[in-house]
Amino acid sequence: LTSRQTPADRVRTTCGYCGVGCTLDVVVREDRVAAVLPARDGPVNRGHACVKGRFAYGYLGSAERLTEPLLRENGVLRPASWAEAVDRIADGLRAAVRDGGPDAVAAISSARATNEENYLVQKFLRTVIGTNNVDNCSRLCHAPSAAGLTASFGRAGGTDAFDDVETADCLLVVGANPVEAHPVVGARLLQRALSGAPLIVADPRDVGLARHADVHLRPRPGTNVALFHGLAHVLVDENMTDGGFLRERATGLDELTDLLADYPPERVAETTGVPADDIRKAARLYGRAERPAVVYGLGVTEHLHGTDGVRTLANLPILRGAVGGTGRGFGISPLRGQNNVQGASDMGALPDLLPGYGRVTDPEARARAEAVWGRRVPERPGMRIPEMFAAARDGRLRALWVIGEDVCATDPDSRRVAEALDACPLVVVNELFLSETARHADVVLPVASWLEKDGTFVNFDRRFQRVRQAVNPPGTARSDFQVVHAVAEALGADLGCPTPAAALAECGRVTPLFAGLSHERIDREGAVPWPCPAPDQPGERTLYSTEFATPDGRAHLSAAPYLPPGEEPDQDYPLVLVTGRRWVHYNSGSMTRRGGNLLLDAQDRLDLHPEDAARYGLRDGIPVTVESRHGQARLVARVGTELAPGQVFCAFHFPASGVNSLTSGHADTVTSCPEYKVTAVRLRPASSH
Ligand code: SF4
Repeated sequence: LTSRQTPADRVRTTCGYCGVGCTLDVVVREDRVAAVLPARDGPVNRGHACVKGRFAYGYLGSAERLTEPLLRENGVLRPASWAEAVDRIADGLRAAVRDGGPDAVAAISSARATNEENYLVQKFLRTVIGTNNVDNCSRLCHAPSAAGLTASFGRAGGTDAFDDVETADCLLVVGANPVEAHPVVGARLLQRALSGAPLIVADPRDVGLARHADVHLRPRPGTNVALFHGLAHVLVDENMTDGGFLRERATGLDELTDLLADYPPERVAETTGVPADDIRKAARLYGRAERPAVVYGLGVTEHLHGTDGVRTLANLPILRGAVGGTGRGFGISPLRGQNNVQGASDMGALPDLLPGYGRVTDPEARARAEAVWGRRVPERPGMRIPEMFAAARDGRLRALWVIGEDVCATDPDSRRVAEALDACPLVVVNELFLSETARHADVVLPVASWLEKDGTFVNFDRRFQRVRQAVNPPGTARSDFQVVHAVAEALGADLGCPTPAAALAECGRVTPLFAGLSHERIDREGAVPWPCPAPDQPGERTLYSTEFATPDGRAHLSAAPYLPPGEEPDQDYPLVLVTGRRWVHYNSGSMTRRGGNLLLDAQDRLDLHPEDAARYGLRDGIPVTVESRHGQARLVARVGTELAPGQVFCAFHFPASGVNSLTSGHADTVTSCPEYKVTAVRLRPASSH
């Protein structure tokens, strides 16, 4: 089926869970979703979908859905009309600007929202309020990818089309568990490995793909940069680099070569715990391949030195000349976690970047946006999410709008996040449910989910795909797009672009990156990649065929040294906690916990090695208290050998277990992405004191 052939009772849309971007046909009966079917001609999924996209839609009809706005009065949230709620928000925003200036207002936009909604949110903050205080939850996951890939290659996205992985003759999968977190991509990687491509997995855990790997490198959490330098050392030492490519299209080789002298495999083995022979074997598999591919996930980014991790991993395809349309390799691809984490950043929901990644400090980029918007754009970069919370706690931030994020459940050191919300005079939350964050709000607005609205998402390999409304939202719930317009109107402003299609068209006038895109074109073609500078151009599936997008047109090698993580295990907290996802649930679980998926997986568990289980008197199914320097959580032990002794793992799908009260305030030094992958903890059976 194509979109034009879809039967009347089916609506073709794009999955709203992970960043793979599967095309789904939603079967609708009497304004209810009866089934979700993977589209056979879906450009990414080709007839497949996972347990989330296919079955996790029961939340739509949940009795817990918010159906009307809520206002805080005398400390209690009470039902209200939309007019009352919007007036309260407008009054609160006016008061915040009057008392603290435009920078006393901030918004956290959402990787769950559409591109058009993200575009409108940042336009509202910049042109109506007059601040760059807008960020999105890529801050918590792939901000280091945007920063690192931009520094290395010039653009904030993967270098190649994922389809090209099918011709790769070596796969290097780093810090990712795609079989669970991105199942359709995980299946395609596994297919490629099973059909003969050597597979290298670098991950502390024995993740699904590792069982099929030719080499499984298991670095101690927090030692990625040392490992990547160890691999690069072997590439250089054994002449597996592409001299011509490095001379003509790259820069930084001398500095890197000097640094790599300090990273022979034996020394790297001491730092990382990965045997030197395994480092050599992996480097030779990658270095001798004709078309190697690097795919990575949050195990690379969510570290104190996450941006250095991305950049030093990107060194490998540069050293091999396996990037930049050379026909020898797939380059490097970040596996984006949330459905539209790429698009939220593409649309400029970032404190320092406008739509299309023009810097707010760049007069030319500002002038382009100002010409379209007819309003001045502030030039001072705004606050990042952690800075917003700090500013709320010390009284500088007087109004915070949280759009579709449960920050009290998903952000690190969650107790401090709740303190920040309670200290802020106006907190507005757009939500499907009365989340933990919504409980701290002054105004809660019921909004539509991805199956109830129109727009586009950008998937992990830069493809714009359509999101189409299958059913109506419950009660008086509206789309985030409608809500932002309503608040702007209450402040006497007209944001223009009255429809999502008009918003995308307007965004294309702000940046040439998206100038060739339109809803009508995406409807016709199914998926269109960026950059796409004109309607008659197809969009670039492979980037940098002629030159890189850096100021000098070259790929930049990074000589960042290895530096230790923010926390290391010690006598008091002797274990390292790594957090991540499991296949059934999605992020804070607000949607996947409300439906049949709960039957498949009903609680967060703490995975630990049998040696550690014996040391702490734990066994399968025993409740366990996990303590860090920041807080404590209660989980259920699951004993297995997926992790090395001294390391424990849990997901964050059941916020009530308190996992993110454990995680620290350490964050990537470049982007402020939290160090979710390394927290020092200790354990005790939950019953003991
Ligand atoms: Fe949705 Fe990702 Fe599953 Fe595809 S793999 S169905 S995009 S959650």
